[in-house]
Amino acid sequence: MSTENTIEKVKCLIIGSGPAGYTAAIYASRANLHPVLYTGLQMGGQLTTTTEVENFPGYPEGVTGPVMMEDMRKQAERFGTEIRFGIVTDVDFSGHPHKVTIDGEKQIEADAVIIATGAAAKYLGLPSEEKFKGMGVSACATCDGFFYRGKNVAVVGGGDTACEEATYLAGLCQKVYLIVRKTYLRASKAMQKRVFETPNIEVLFEHNTVELLGNDMGVTGAKLVYKKGTPEESLKEIAIDGFFLAIGHTPNTDVFKKYITLDEQGYIVTEGKSSRTNIPGVFAAGDVMDPTYRQGITSAGAGCRAAIDAERYLGELGH
Ligand code: NDP
Repeated sequence: MSTENTIEKVKCLIIGSGPAGYTAAIYASRANLHPVLYTGLQMGGQLTTTTEVENFPGYPEGVTGPVMMEDMRKQAERFGTEIRFGIVTDVDFSGHPHKVTIDGEKQIEADAVIIATGAAAKYLGLPSEEKFKGMGVSACATCDGFFYRGKNVAVVGGGDTACEEATYLAGLCQKVYLIVRKTYLRASKAMQKRVFETPNIEVLFEHNTVELLGNDMGVTGAKLVYKKGTPEESLKEIAIDGFFLAIGHTPNTDVFKKYITLDEQGYIVTEGKSSRTNIPGVFAAGDVMDPTYRQGITSAGAGCRAAIDAERYLGELGH
């Protein structure tokens, strides 16, 4: 390791410590690329904020998110990945090698860079929502819906994700409220049709959540306001055990946007089925380039692709 002011040269730099980053690290270290991985602020990524993970193959009894991420970290380290705390604060992808600044001071030059910085689910920002995170409040129906079988839940949002999650939950739960702030759904017509044709989904248009109600066991209800700011404004309470946010995600791409091509929502654009970005030698994997699937297992698969793409790229460079 170098001192702060000298430039460290790295063959393969991995940014991010979710399933995509760690899987890329496992493959890259086994391919002898000597990867260095920077974890970012939230070591282990979004999965460390969930409780039980039951849909990741290989854990027949389920596993908690933090334990699974620890397992992935250990597996990456076992093959020689150097894992370091730190966040990328600047990049210069204008030439080769790629220059990356860590924590505003440390300089790294990397032949290949794998971006696996993930995305963050948006929350409403209510104090009660924060209080019940992981205790009834979730931003992933596919991950947590199973725990609410036969119960009443609510989904917030009017886009494709909200409609998809509401329909998914309707197959498991007794009743699903879809809380929509406008008078209409933004989702595609096909998705709207599915929602309206599902008898146990009740769409609450022009409703906003004011507060989540609950006890030591978790969420028990939500307080909603109807037609806020109009003469018809009124409050109502719904009894629910689960509260699912589906109001969008923010991909963590700010630091790369000067060089890397992003789509209109800020996700990294990759070439075809590959993990290649518009910059040769810079690859992307996981939620940072995938607004659609956003699962641990799909991110892990993407991390594997990125490491294989990086290995081929380095091979062509003669490294
Ligand atoms: P979107 O940005 O499309 O929708 C977000 C929804 O959340 C909107 O209805 C928005 O309301 C609402 N919202 C935002 N902030 C708040 C708030 N503070 N309070 C209440 N409601 C709020 O995000 P999605 O995740 O649904 O979709 C992202 C992209 O992925 C889209 O392009 C979508 O089409 C795509 N997608 C496609 C799927 C498919 O084709 N199968 C499945 C899932 C996603 P408002 O309308 O008022 O702004």
